[in-house]
Amino acid sequence: MSFAVHILGANSAVPNKERFPTSQYIKVGKESILIDCGEGAQIQLSKYKLKPSKINTILISHLHGDHVYGLPGLIGSFNLAGRREPLTIIGPVGIQAFLVGVFKTTYVTLNYVIVFNELDHEGIKHITELKEVTIQAFPMKHRVPTYGYKITEKERKQNILSEAITTYTLSIDQIKAIKAGGDFVTSEGEVIPNAALTKEQVNPKSYAYCSDTVYDEDLIPFIQKVDLLYHEATYLHDLQHMAEKRKHATAKEAGMIARQANVGRLIIGHYSSRYDDLQPLEDESKIEFENVHIVRGGDVYTL
Ligand SMILES: [Zn+2]
Ligand SMILES: [Zn+2]
Repeated sequence: MSFAVHILGANSAVPNKERFPTSQYIKVGKESILIDCGEGAQIQLSKYKLKPSKINTILISHLHGDHVYGLPGLIGSFNLAGRREPLTIIGPVGIQAFLVGVFKTTYVTLNYVIVFNELDHEGIKHITELKEVTIQAFPMKHRVPTYGYKITEKERKQNILSEAITTYTLSIDQIKAIKAGGDFVTSEGEVIPNAALTKEQVNPKSYAYCSDTVYDEDLIPFIQKVDLLYHEATYLHDLQHMAEKRKHATAKEAGMIARQANVGRLIIGHYSSRYDDLQPLEDESKIEFENVHIVRGGDVYTL
């Protein structure tokens, strides 16, 4: 199954002509999930030829403007496009009041249903299940209630080799038994082990999203061994005092979290607008964790 993270924006605070605030479009199989929706997300979706109409689930980390100011516009555009399918929006308590307030004061009547799932819990919690993935949410330490998300592919049943079906002329019931993990016994009594009849099962892939957060080792158990981690890196470490005060992380700290959580790959973003050149952020993070990339709008990371 395809599983890709499309970066729409990765800046913090204010947009500029090169960098948009935070938003990511996750494509898993036939489904699309949007994580955060900073200003300009719609422009980026159209620029990178991603279909907004495919989005049925939106995950919001927190109610700071650089993560939600694109949301009323996107929801309004769904309305103008004649959307009828329900939309699920998951985020901290307040997300519903924010959107309902905007629509009420701007005379918008939606012609589709929004299902809100407001989060207010400790620890990691199963939030929802889509066709191809499950989604968990966990709290992070920021200036306002904030949640990180982990998206994990569902375990798949064993896939049977087509040669095995023809060689042993397997019946539907025999195929079902093999898919469930059983061996096959031929009419001569020969036992064909399951491994010889099935394709090797690929481990379910997982992606974790941690923005915004201060350096927080409590996150490590929630994101342990994910294939891909997005962690905010607002500042270089010489401004660690500022990161601590504003409840953000540095590039070095993002690398430290990735190393301790044994993740496969790390991508960092949410840069302060003070940095024109982003390379030093990657270089600093790399000292802690080798497999790291700074993200830019238009980047695609495939799991
Ligand atoms: Zn932010
Ligand atoms: Zn924030």
